[in-house]
Amino acid sequence: MAIIITDECINCGACEPECPNTAIYEGAEDWKYADGTDLEGNVVLPDGKSINAEEENEPISDEIYFIVADKCTECKGFHEEPQCAAVCPVDCCVPDENNVETEEALLAKQRFLHHE
Ligand code: SF4
Ligand code: SF4
Repeated sequence: MAIIITDECINCGACEPECPNTAIYEGAEDWKYADGTDLEGNVVLPDGKSINAEEENEPISDEIYFIVADKCTECKGFHEEPQCAAVCPVDCCVPDENNVETEEALLAKQRFLHHE
C-alpha cells in the first residue's frame, strides 16, 4: 500500500528530501510524475491510466505535506522501510488501508518509475 500523511503533519519538511521517488510535496505545491523519476512525455501507468509525465498536477493538499500514491513504492527497491515514516517526528506517515498493494506490485512500480 502507499503511505499517506495524516492531518497531524506539522509541516516540518523532514520527509520530503528522504523520498527516493520524489513522491512527497509541500502543501499547495504542483507536482509532476517526471520529478525525480525516469518518466517523460506521454506514459501509460501500470494501472492503465494515461498521463503526461511533464504536466503540472494540482496539489493533493493545500495545508500539509502530501504523498502522490502513484509515485510511492513504500520505498521498496531502495530501502528496508518507508523513509518518510522513519524520519517523521510526529509519526503521521502511515499505511493507507484504502490503497493496499502487494510487494510485487510495489517493486514493479519502482522499476516502472526508474527504468533507465
Ligand atoms: Fe517516498 Fe518511501 Fe515515503 Fe513512499 S514510503 S512517500 S516512496 S519516502
Ligand atoms: Fe509532516 Fe512528518 Fe513530513 Fe514533517 S516529516 S512534513 S510532520 S509528514
